[in-house]
Amino acid sequence: MSDRIILHADLNAFYASVECLLRPELKEVPMAVVAGLEENRHGVILAKNEATKKYGVKTAELISQAKRKCPGLQTVLPHHDLYWEYSRQVKAVYVRFTNQVESFSIDECWMDVTDIPSIQGNEERFADALRDAVRFETGLTISVGVSWNKVFAKLGSDLKKPDATTMITRDNFKGKVWPLPASDLLLVGQ
Ligand SMILES: [Mg+2]
Repeated sequence: MSDRIILHADLNAFYASVECLLRPELKEVPMAVVAGLEENRHGVILAKNEATKKYGVKTAELISQAKRKCPGLQTVLPHHDLYWEYSRQVKAVYVRFTNQVESFSIDECWMDVTDIPSIQGNEERFADALRDAVRFETGLTISVGVSWNKVFAKLGSDLKKPDATTMITRDNFKGKVWPLPASDLLLVGQ
């Protein structure tokens, strides 16, 4: 039995990317989508844009803490209806490439492309074409991990972003996976 070919596609900074798409001026400044209000001390960061990353702001961090790291941080309340609409559009792109799509969350899907004719040896090009289609048709970017199982495919989509493909093969997985902390593996907690 030969290996399966599994892709995991993850939308990059999804909520923040949708907000920046609709209000391009937000792209240029450090910006985060937040849940709750800073005033009540429970507001947290849901997603942040690229301009925020260099300040070390983390997802799930308190807004007040994030603003200490990044005083100019612009906060935006979430628009969940929009995120579901974009999620639907992106999945519509995926199902054009393969009917074997499994949703994991609003911004993540696995695809089993094993049965696509002549996919063997063309996995990376396939993943790149998927990224191009998503970017061209929705303005959003994805990172894609390609491997022979779902866990490594998901891990791969996390290794290089935004808008990148990472191959985790039987030849390179020891170098790519073994140095990572166990908590990076799917469903392995702290
Ligand atoms: Mg994501």
